[in-house]
Amino acid sequence: MLLTPDYIFKSIECISPDFLREKGITALVLDVDNTLTGDFSQTLEPSVQKWLDTMRGAGISLTIVSNNTAERVRPFAEKVGLDFVPLAAKPLPPGLMVARRRLGVPRRRMAMVGDQIFTDRLAAGLYGIPCLYTMPRGGDHQKGVQFKRKFEPFWIARYYQKGGRLYE
Ligand SMILES: [Mg+2]
Repeated sequence: MLLTPDYIFKSIECISPDFLREKGITALVLDVDNTLTGDFSQTLEPSVQKWLDTMRGAGISLTIVSNNTAERVRPFAEKVGLDFVPLAAKPLPPGLMVARRRLGVPRRRMAMVGDQIFTDRLAAGLYGIPCLYTMPRGGDHQKGVQFKRKFEPFWIARYYQKGGRLYE
């Protein structure tokens, strides 16, 4: 049960304060590439800025954990005013451990938000927190990611077979 998504959102903007309140989640660990923006993009879409403002307004703590380099993540993290962990090696747990310390919450209050089953979903599962899986915002540039994508539909189909719904 480490790979089937817990929840699937059409995009990060579809995660609402009400949903988080209902689940007792007060802190989110955010992926960057294809979650907050496009793969390797520095563009901050107005809808994402609005979502970040909504989350802050609702008292949700936020931080970034990315497998990408500091060079790629820092400009975007600065733009949105968030701390970040680069080169996190998700699905391994150290990035989430650092994030939890920064967020200052117990694990049961945290969730991982990301677009990849074999990094974000698996990292959350191994660390024992839910993953709010978001559908990728666009294409992938890295060969390794493109390869892993081929195996995602199986796990996404399982979510729907088990009665999961798309939050949009
Ligand atoms: Mg990603």
